[in-house]
Amino acid sequence: MDVIRKTPHDCSVRPNLTDYEQARAQFHWSDVPPLCAGMGPGRCNIAYAAVDRHAEGPAATRTALRFVTDAGSDGAITTRDLSYSELGRLVRRFSGALRSLGIHRGNRVFTIMNRSPELYIAMLGALRNGSVVSPLFSAFGPEPIATRVSIGQADVLVTTRAIYERKIAKIRDRLPSVRHVVVVDDGKAGGAPPGTLNFWECLDAADENAPIEPTAADDPALLHFTSGTTGTPKGAIHVHGAVAMHYVTGLYALDLHPDDTYWCTADPGWVTGTSYGIISPLLHGVTSIVDEAEFDARRWYQILQDQGVSVWYTAPTAIRMLIKAGPELPAQYRFPRLRFIASVGEPLNPEAVWWGKRVLGLPIHDNWWQTETGGIMIANTPAFDIKPGSMGRPLPGVDAYIVRHNDDDTTEVVDEPDVEGELALKPGWPSMFRGYLGAEERYRNSFANGLYLTGDLAKKDADGYFWFVGRKDDVIKSAGHLIGPFEVESALTDHPAVAEAAVIGIPDPTVGEMVKAFVTLKNGVVADEDLRLELLGHARKRLGAAVAPKDIEFVDALPHTSSGKIMRRLLKARELGLPEGDTSTIERQPDHRAEGVPS
Ligand code: AMP
Repeated sequence: MDVIRKTPHDCSVRPNLTDYEQARAQFHWSDVPPLCAGMGPGRCNIAYAAVDRHAEGPAATRTALRFVTDAGSDGAITTRDLSYSELGRLVRRFSGALRSLGIHRGNRVFTIMNRSPELYIAMLGALRNGSVVSPLFSAFGPEPIATRVSIGQADVLVTTRAIYERKIAKIRDRLPSVRHVVVVDDGKAGGAPPGTLNFWECLDAADENAPIEPTAADDPALLHFTSGTTGTPKGAIHVHGAVAMHYVTGLYALDLHPDDTYWCTADPGWVTGTSYGIISPLLHGVTSIVDEAEFDARRWYQILQDQGVSVWYTAPTAIRMLIKAGPELPAQYRFPRLRFIASVGEPLNPEAVWWGKRVLGLPIHDNWWQTETGGIMIANTPAFDIKPGSMGRPLPGVDAYIVRHNDDDTTEVVDEPDVEGELALKPGWPSMFRGYLGAEERYRNSFANGLYLTGDLAKKDADGYFWFVGRKDDVIKSAGHLIGPFEVESALTDHPAVAEAAVIGIPDPTVGEMVKAFVTLKNGVVADEDLRLELLGHARKRLGAAVAPKDIEFVDALPHTSSGKIMRRLLKARELGLPEGDTSTIERQPDHRAEGVPS
């Protein structure tokens, strides 16, 4: 197998991690520098460590966030900067604004916004106020928003006028917990829509010197939603003490140095965009690029070049889209400052790792983690050779295992190399989730034999490198976003023509998996192209473009187990022409058409 060897010449800057084995052997979480010492004994707050500390310190005048707002018709990029001291001032004001609205420690503040300065100010200001922040992806439709806001019992929504009018106003009576909606008026005149507050008016009226809430490391800070195979989305609770993880992984997995210009391309509506698009870079006092627009290959190369990005954290789908755009485009740009590239979220194919080396002059360092872990767990680092296709090795402070589940319900660690099993982690890292909100049993079920079970299947080789095999459950990874099939099926069965729906991921060369739905219709409904398009539109309107199926196929019946569960795996095997596996539990009467004619 081809290995990418690391030599000291590969690094223009001495990496933070040079001796992997030694760092692992000597590492203790208690040795991480206290980032919140200035708050007093026993205190910890993410916003203090990320912003307040720098706003008053030597980094005050440095650019914290650089927003790439527009690429003009001449191709020139427009930016606006927020220094650490300006960001500090706005974040203090937002925490003051929340307080004057009667929102305090433990109250929940949800954001549903595009990547504008207000999103970063609101999230950090709410953290500083001791409120629990839940960032929702702005491309979600009304249904995923309503579900998550209800589970999270949001007290405040911070959003934009456009999103409010398109998605939230119509579901507002389904969200009784929401006391205030704060709206950023996207440049349109007319103040705030009825029943909402204007973001900047709240900020202008607020106390610029609002004191920070004296939270502790174990206080809840963030609520990140993730999807499972069944039931509602799960709200993973994270605490302020997670900063220690975000700091250490910024050092070891992203190799951040104080004078870096860093670009994490993930949206804060997903955990990567929060942990590594906001918290980790600010902890390290670096300048972070935020692109307000959606993916565009030319624009991305231009940002990398013009902004002098030195550390870049991106995702396999984006890399595959860049590869697809062809080699002529990057040949028009130069990236002399770029020195480290990492990727997360989906399997990174070996070709993509080599493409980085060939086209950008640097290999891509794949790493692995998930919403529940809150931070990077397994990574390719500057300190060791890359085996393209592998996720790398567990970081210092992280213990990862492959486990086997036995028929007698016991779970044991597999010691032999190259054996497939479930990836499991030893609890104890600071950013580990502390529960699924209101779902104690689901939380308990994610542990066995003292280990956290990740739901991923993987292998570990003789050198300690981990290799991703697949998911244990039926969740779908599309363009890096985790999608629960049940949420999509529920939106489809809401349509009066649909009897039943089953949703699976179909392998796709660019986005990893594409969401496809199989649908049975109620008696008397005719399956035709008009109805198919109507259902696609119905799902898109309810779920939003990020979650909705891209394809729908009508079928006469769906395969079920004898206990009535849809066998998505069998459907997938049939679709892909793969062996059907154990079908002994399949129900033998195939006619599941529900009674009734659509209204
Ligand atoms: P999320 O919780 O949305 O961040 O999704 C986490 C899941 O994404 C993991 O459990 C994996 O299934 C997948 N994933 C994340 N990183 C990688 C990676 N480097 N290689 C393969 N799969 C990954």
